[in-house]
Amino acid sequence: MSPDRVTLYSNAQRQFDLAADALDLDPRMRAILRVPQRELIVNFPVQKDDKSIEVFTGYRVQHNITRGPAKGGIRFHPRVTLDDVRALSMIMTWKCATVNIPYGGAKGAVIVDPRALSIHELERLTRRYTSEISVLIGPDRDIPAPDVGTDAQVMAWVMDTISMHRGHTVPAVVTGKPLEIGGSHGRDQATARGLLYVVREAAEALSLSLAGARVAIQGFGKVGATVARLLDDMGATVVAVSDSSGGIYNPRGLDVGAVFGYKAHHGRLAGYREAEPISHSDLLELPVEVLVPASLSTQISGINAARIRARIIGEAANAPITPEADEVLFGNGVFVIPDILAGAGGVTVSYFEWVQGLQEFFWTEREVNAQLERVMVGAFRSVLRAAQERRVTMRTAAYLQAVERVAQATRIRGIYP
Ligand code: GLU
Repeated sequence: MSPDRVTLYSNAQRQFDLAADALDLDPRMRAILRVPQRELIVNFPVQKDDKSIEVFTGYRVQHNITRGPAKGGIRFHPRVTLDDVRALSMIMTWKCATVNIPYGGAKGAVIVDPRALSIHELERLTRRYTSEISVLIGPDRDIPAPDVGTDAQVMAWVMDTISMHRGHTVPAVVTGKPLEIGGSHGRDQATARGLLYVVREAAEALSLSLAGARVAIQGFGKVGATVARLLDDMGATVVAVSDSSGGIYNPRGLDVGAVFGYKAHHGRLAGYREAEPISHSDLLELPVEVLVPASLSTQISGINAARIRARIIGEAANAPITPEADEVLFGNGVFVIPDILAGAGGVTVSYFEWVQGLQEFFWTEREVNAQLERVMVGAFRSVLRAAQERRVTMRTAAYLQAVERVAQATRIRGIYP
């Protein structure tokens, strides 16, 4: 994670404070929503293939469950902290409220580099972690999903472990599952597709044509790579992409199909011939129309914000821009589509997957994508309207709506006991 990741939680709280100020939120409501409701820390042993034992630390944090069950991914990352998980759980509450799906926010994590484990070790780690957090999760309580370092296979193990505990199959306990065991069509591309819909709306609002627009994407994982493919299909010119091995840049446009082929063959982007190498940070400062940060948090801060030349930034990652950077970007007329809106496609289709599982009635990919488009475009337009009316950033407008929805639900339910 980035060097200043320690600030992720304080940034999330600061972002909340800004919205609370603008809403003139009652101090008691502020105190409730500013911190997570439940935090579970687990330390658990995993047997390695050589029979040695390693003790791992994991977390599951539920920020808020007022509007529905807690929802949010599980992250496997070597440098994740409890504060990161707190921040990410809070972001999930606002994300679900922004697209108005009936969930609260949660996040889980294990401090581990999943690439350093064998597949068997990864399965044992996932099953034991699931067992440890099983006191919190369930289809009507808290529903995990994939996040950085986890995937559909990991979700299958989570689902199987809970099902073994309960003595019957519980598909709706996780989303982002493989199709064979109750996953949803379109879930694997959902975050990228959701981002595409809102970038398209933003371009339209700015009277900018996406055909031929230059695009730079930081991160070439599940989300970043799919964004590259979808934008390329739409006629945009993807000029730069990057992964953990570094970035590649071709001002005339990358052959996205060839980049996919290279990455599949070599497992990395570095060394791709038809482009020049570029660092992660330099990629952010390229002369492009659309910039998509799709890796980790805190990539654009007060230090580099003034050097950003993009017209539109679509935040596919969670919290890639700090509040200081937001101000600079707003002042420079950069149109930022915030994470709680731009990155909400994944959890939206997670919601569809959960609904399909509970009803045991499954939709076609076309139906899923059409519903996703409806939700994303509706949320974008309502946030844009609020931003224009109040003359605030898209992030502030999205936060205002989200925080107000959660606050209102809290008021109506009242304080127990
Ligand atoms: N991990 C994704 C996110 O941060 C998806 C969460 C979900 O589908 O529950 O939005």
